[in-house]
Amino acid sequence: TARIVDAAAEDDTAVEAALRPKRLVDFPGQTKVRDQLGLVLEAARRRAAPPDHVLLSGPPGLGKTTLAMIVGAELGQPVRVTSGPAIQHAGDLAAILSSLAEGEVLFLDEIHRMSRPAEEMLYLAMEDFRVDVVVGKGPGATAIPLELPPFTVVGATTRAGLLPAPLRDRFGFTGHLDYYETADLETILHRSAGLLQVGADAAGIAEIARRSRGTPRIANRLLRRVRDWAQVHGDDVVDARSAQAALTLFDVDDAGLDRLDRGVLEVLCTRFGGGPTGLSTLAVAVGEETDTVETVAEPYLVRTGYLARTPRGRVATALAWRHLGLAVPDGLAQ
Ligand code: ATP
Repeated sequence: TARIVDAAAEDDTAVEAALRPKRLVDFPGQTKVRDQLGLVLEAARRRAAPPDHVLLSGPPGLGKTTLAMIVGAELGQPVRVTSGPAIQHAGDLAAILSSLAEGEVLFLDEIHRMSRPAEEMLYLAMEDFRVDVVVGKGPGATAIPLELPPFTVVGATTRAGLLPAPLRDRFGFTGHLDYYETADLETILHRSAGLLQVGADAAGIAEIARRSRGTPRIANRLLRRVRDWAQVHGDDVVDARSAQAALTLFDVDDAGLDRLDRGVLEVLCTRFGGGPTGLSTLAVAVGEETDTVETVAEPYLVRTGYLARTPRGRVATALAWRHLGLAVPDGLAQ
């Protein structure tokens, strides 16, 4: 079942697009990446030439697609959107590349999931603005080089480490996005509430931001559920009361943990004395696939310090015991 706190699950495209900042100045958070990218784009604009290719890396839902669209807007260029999984054959890529206009931005989401031949074609195109179009089949096939007008690739990946070095090296600028500070999420939420035309006070916004796992996509999704609650039961305002009620209804607790996250911690503390417990044992005990526990619940629990990974298994930290309202066992570091 879909989790309300899943950062990777994309929402309705129209809904997401409506909440995307359109320009760099409207993009809260990620100040380092924003300032660096701003410089790269402004310099390119002054030179009236395309900027270096841009690689954006980081966990899902932090704004990679948003920034790619902003690159186009700042350069005053259209953005062509495609993704690694959509390009299985080099021919698919050749077709796209050969139709790009001068200066156009090509956004390649999940670029680490492209096929090897497509990858090789891409880095030649990025370097030399040229593709070799193969005409014919078998021994008689010939490669005809085709010149391309200069363009800009914006690549996005959750795993920069998975990109082969030759491809990674073609990106002159790499920006790594990290989880947002709560204050930045609050800024984003205020802006989104305005766009959704729902009233919101600081306490309501703070409540949602705190539970959003540092991720704007989750923040915007929780905001929409709180708005629903406020419209049905409340007085149409996102405030502490509607935020608490809606997020309790959707099982998101005040630390942003959902039922699965809490289930893992509960089982670990109450059935296994806090661990160390092997991942698969833990998964069976919560009635989930091992993979689900590992990729869906664990990263956030580890990042926020509720769970520790040790060579002998998973261990609940003092923070986890306290969060569940349980006494912290003697001998556990506080
Ligand atoms: P994925 O890799 O899963 O596609 P992503 O990193 O590309 O995720 P986006 O699609 O850009 O993320 O953003 C997800 C949602 O979060 C969008 O609705 C967007 O409006 C919002 N968002 C992301 N970053 C910001 C930000 N800095 N300010 C405001 N909204 C943001």
